[in-house]
Amino acid sequence: MTTAREQFERHVAWTSTAPMALEVDRAEGPYIWLADGRRLTDLISGIAVSSLGHRHPAVMAAIQKQLDRHLHVMVYGEFIQEAQSALAGLLARVLPGDLSTAYFTMSGTEANEGALKLAKKATGRTRLVAFEGSYHGDTHGSLSVTGRSVYRDPFLPLLPGVTFLPFDQIDALAEIDNTVAAVITEPIQGEGGVRVPSRAWHAALRARCTEVGALLIFDEIQTGMGRTGTLFAAEQFGVIPDIMTLAKALGGGMPIGAFVSRPEIMRALRENPPLSHVTTFGGHPVSCAAAHAALSELVKTRLYERAPLIEARVRAALDIPGVVEVRGMGAMLGMVLRTADETAHVVDACLSDGVLLGWTLHSDTLVRIAPPLNIPDDALDAALEVIRTAVQ
Ligand code: PMP
Repeated sequence: MTTAREQFERHVAWTSTAPMALEVDRAEGPYIWLADGRRLTDLISGIAVSSLGHRHPAVMAAIQKQLDRHLHVMVYGEFIQEAQSALAGLLARVLPGDLSTAYFTMSGTEANEGALKLAKKATGRTRLVAFEGSYHGDTHGSLSVTGRSVYRDPFLPLLPGVTFLPFDQIDALAEIDNTVAAVITEPIQGEGGVRVPSRAWHAALRARCTEVGALLIFDEIQTGMGRTGTLFAAEQFGVIPDIMTLAKALGGGMPIGAFVSRPEIMRALRENPPLSHVTTFGGHPVSCAAAHAALSELVKTRLYERAPLIEARVRAALDIPGVVEVRGMGAMLGMVLRTADETAHVVDACLSDGVLLGWTLHSDTLVRIAPPLNIPDDALDAALEVIRTAVQ
């Protein structure tokens, strides 16, 4: 019989020459069990997805309930589907300002594609501004505003009219003028190395966009859904964007994304021509049911309030020689080590000892720490002890 590993090696497309290739058996709460029986404590949450842990009971129950009603019935936007409407309504209630109209997608990069198209259509402008070190996804539009040339160069030409500015530099914001349709940024850069910009920069960015009529897009695909200690990172900086994009943890483990805006902006997608931005599977009812359950749970239990407690525990445990810095906010943290070799060694040693850590796309000395928000203290402490041993 051909094993799953053999088929993976022969028939599944790889994204690098050395995938982790861990064979999953099952996952529950903060743990993943491998086919060889090993149990891993998940400190990366499938890259900021499993904020409620794996297979949260409320999410599982909502999925089961939706499975018994209907799966896909019609392309996005035509039929009224209870799961989708309920999710849109809940998002409108918890999002800041008047971000009250949601367009659902299947992934993060698609949410950004939609947001960029919406901004162009709503403003009638074409220029886009993004920031160095950013990551917004791997489809052509999102890649065009991703601030690392090493990832863009193999795919040139990309979208014209994109200007990259240095991140977190107030002076540079003067470049944003009245030809700009949208400025897109992560409130905290994730793949760029978990970089937290200043509150003053956020305020200046918001003011400049308002002054010149450029729409401000916050990509909260990684920072959203409670990861930084508030439901959305925008709240940490006291800024409300014109468009917000969400994905990852939004679905509680199911694939879904969204771009959300004010009704008068989102209206631009209705006409001239109608159906100018459509999707078959966006807002799939099972994903929406899962997302609604996950968000309800987050709001009801205020689980996002655990993020700063996780941060404090991680910072205290990793205040040791060998760790250059721990940066980030809440449960979106990065541990900086001295060299790339040492970093690879620490990640490997932790894996051997049952702790799953991750890398970020743009750095080889930064180890991502983004556990489920409901990881029990003793599980977190045990995992941190494994990291301490590996570093020292
Ligand atoms: N934006 C940000 C900030 C992300 O971190 C990611 C994924 N790492 C994306 C967009 C792309 O999301 P997806 O992989 O769902 O397309």
